[in-house]
Amino acid sequence: MSAMTDEEVIVVGAGPAGIAAAIQLKHSDVNPLVFEKERIGGLLRSANFIENYPGFPEGIKGRCLAERFEQQFKKYKIRVLKEEVKIADYSSGLFSIGSPSGKRRTKYLVLASGTTPSENFDVAISGAASKRVHYNVEEILNLYGKRIVIVGAGDAAFDYAVTLSSENDVLILGRSKSPRCLLVLYKRVLANKKIYYFREVEIGKVDIKNGELLLKLKKEKSMKANLPKGFEDKDGITADHLLFAIGRKPRLDFLSERIERKMAFLESERRLFLAGDVGNLLYRQVAISVGDGLRAAMEIAERIHV
Ligand SMILES: Cc1cc2nc3c(=O)[nH]c(=O)nc-3n(C[C@H](O)[C@H](O)[C@H](O)COP(=O)(O)OP(=O)(O)OC[C@H]3O[C@@H](n4cnc5c(N)ncnc54)[C@H](O)[C@@H]3O)c2cc1C
Repeated sequence: MSAMTDEEVIVVGAGPAGIAAAIQLKHSDVNPLVFEKERIGGLLRSANFIENYPGFPEGIKGRCLAERFEQQFKKYKIRVLKEEVKIADYSSGLFSIGSPSGKRRTKYLVLASGTTPSENFDVAISGAASKRVHYNVEEILNLYGKRIVIVGAGDAAFDYAVTLSSENDVLILGRSKSPRCLLVLYKRVLANKKIYYFREVEIGKVDIKNGELLLKLKKEKSMKANLPKGFEDKDGITADHLLFAIGRKPRLDFLSERIERKMAFLESERRLFLAGDVGNLLYRQVAISVGDGLRAAMEIAERIHV
């Protein structure tokens, strides 16, 4: 591992929040270092169609908006390390950030690391079936002509269904009595002939039968009789892939215990900033993430230039 190097500001994550923070910092003559472990654009790349981000009256595909963000990010020649931050610690007024290429120190740290999918703990999944069970839609975006079951009834489940239905047949299974997504998404799903939505259904077990996934049901109200062609099986539901979209939680697993203990203090001192989804439990939106990143950057620049 190389020796420690010092940075003015380190940003963890290049989703909308991290990108907005980095652009604003560069715009204010501060030179941040951004870590991104996957792709620039973050979760926005998984969103089907964004209709509530100002400036795009006709709406824009999540992937296309992410590409525009990336273009601007590149235009500013922002330094980005395509590495995962494994550990962030804090001592004597400085953060130390550890990644595969070494350790770096900084006085200001922006956490824009977004969220990670909540895992399922209710459904028993056999080892053989687990290869076809997913939590990230990116893993199945290239499928064609498959039968996909999505568990969940929120915005993400309905949005993923619309995306996947362009090449596949999709079944959404929700536990609740009614969907928990935006009305516009619900209507879109109802109008889509390749998506079927069933409410008040719970899966108990997932196994493999005759080389296909078999979902055994725990709770259902008269759905089996109405299953679409290709998904019926006398023992439950059959499918090629299963995607859980049952919520997301902040991605902060790389923080040391010391930072976790001092979190409130470091935030109040304006040295540590949570920007975007990672800090927003309820309202997770692109514009909010951008605003958070921008604000963090403006506060940091103001302190650096004093
Ligand atoms: C299906 C779906 C539909 C959506 N539709 C809309 C919509 O219509 N309108 C809207 O406004 N919003 C929508 N959203 C929400 C929007 O995508 C998010 O609010 C936004 O992407 C959050 O930005 P962020 O920068 O906070 O986090 P993210 O976009 O999650 O970015 C975080 C980044 O940090 C990186 N990272 C994490 N940990 C590390 C680490 N340790 N080291 C290095 N890098 C790390 C990740 O790889 C990721 O790139 C949708 C989301 C989904 C899933």
